Amino acid sequence: MKRHRNVKIVATLGPASSTYEVIRALVEAGADVFRLNMSHGEHSEIRARHEIIRQVEADLGSPIAILADLQGPKLRVGTFANGEEELVEGAAFRLDLDEAEGDATRVRLPHKEIFDALEPGASLLVNDGKIRLRVKECGPDFADCEVVVGGTISNRKGVNVPDVVLPLAALSEKDRKDLEFVCDLGVDWLALSFVQRAADVEEARQLCKGRAAILSKIEKPAAVKAFEEILAASDGIMVARGDLGVELPVQNVPPIQKQLVRRCRAAAKPVIVATQMLESMIESPMPTRAEVSDVATAIYEGADAIMLSAESAAGQYPVQAVATMDNVADEVEHDPTYRDIIESSRKVTHNSVADGIVAAAREIAETTNVKAICCFSQSGTTASLVARERPRVPILALTSVQNTARRLCLTWGTNCVITGEVDRFKAAVVAAARAAREQGLATEADMIVVTAGVPFNTPGSTNILRVAPCAERLIYSAESE
Ligand code: ATP
Ligand code: MG
Ligand code: MG
Repeated sequence: MKRHRNVKIVATLGPASSTYEVIRALVEAGADVFRLNMSHGEHSEIRARHEIIRQVEADLGSPIAILADLQGPKLRVGTFANGEEELVEGAAFRLDLDEAEGDATRVRLPHKEIFDALEPGASLLVNDGKIRLRVKECGPDFADCEVVVGGTISNRKGVNVPDVVLPLAALSEKDRKDLEFVCDLGVDWLALSFVQRAADVEEARQLCKGRAAILSKIEKPAAVKAFEEILAASDGIMVARGDLGVELPVQNVPPIQKQLVRRCRAAAKPVIVATQMLESMIESPMPTRAEVSDVATAIYEGADAIMLSAESAAGQYPVQAVATMDNVADEVEHDPTYRDIIESSRKVTHNSVADGIVAAAREIAETTNVKAICCFSQSGTTASLVARERPRVPILALTSVQNTARRLCLTWGTNCVITGEVDRFKAAVVAAARAAREQGLATEADMIVVTAGVPFNTPGSTNILRVAPCAERLIYSAESE
């Protein structure tokens, strides 16, 4: 789908968004990437959603990225007989290893190691820190707690124990099974939860064997400290504010978000800002002013993508939530201040011929009235470098590799089309001009910038830049080779 905005929208799928009609409506409203959260739902449900996304992609004729999010070593409660319970301040609540479904007095916490590590007085935070429990008494298979801050607790809500160091492996047995399952199914991005060091990413990369690009979720203080190495080992990053704001004081999150977004842009790797962006839209058709402002802030910061979690997975207004993000993006990106901010935070990076070419392409777009920067990119690297420049005009990435087109759905400002292989520069210009016209980015009367690498189909070889007319007869008379 041709978008009129640069920032991309990631929508988490769940019970509120599992039919063909809703998923298609989400794409039409603006979703570019779908997140399948492996913490919720059986493999059969994940497979069904995956199939629907690929059907919608085929029907609409433009690439859609699928991001599978592995649970990682996250502690979660079990399920409740009634699906949810209300915990009130001062009440007693027990966590244990009993397999029976939970009620208002207890629930299963299926992690033996946590009971071994807990001590009276420790705090347990449930559901992104919304509910707070204090341990009164505990043993090897239970913890009797007092509810300090109450709220609704429901199936498989996450639990954090910020005061206690837990000896947990980066990828659980479940994660390994899920990884194999989704890689076989065919996903474009694999997100890793609770990454703490670059070695965690490398371990997943070995198991993944190139079947998906790897995105690290930054939600632990250790990951913030080791960010440079984690970024170098990853293909993309998610600022996972839910757990980050529980593991660290919540006021630390905005500065960390700003720094991570900047560093990802400098590294030309996509970054997603996630969690609670339009939280009130789970139950209300209208967002709060503060939420709209939060979405706008992430866009002004130059994030590649903004994300919906429960709003689209389990909320009452999934399509409206996507439409809200789309509307906010449209306003922000037309604000002259937006260009000022984006341009003033550009870092000059000249390490390679490709860096020089993409910078030149962006400058030409600033000084002339070319309508698009069209780049031939097999692996997606050149397109990411163009996106790092955050140019004024749309980016059109042309690739013969379907996976590349899908992965780039997460990258700022990048529209992707799949082309046949080209082996001559003239054919490349013709293909780029045709795609730009078909995508509605340029007309016969316009000019475009085309970048490519000769010899063709060698990754990382971008070495040509041409300002070309969009009208085919003019290309033929201008190009001799
Ligand atoms: P994570 O820490 O990975 O973000 P999460 O539990 O916060 O996990 P999200 O995907 O962010 O999950 O969604 C927020 C909430 O939406 C969940 O806690 C859950 O209540 C609901 N939800 C999301 N996906 C599903 C699903 N597939 N099935 C049931 N509920 C879901
Ligand atoms: Mg999380
Ligand atoms: Mg979440």
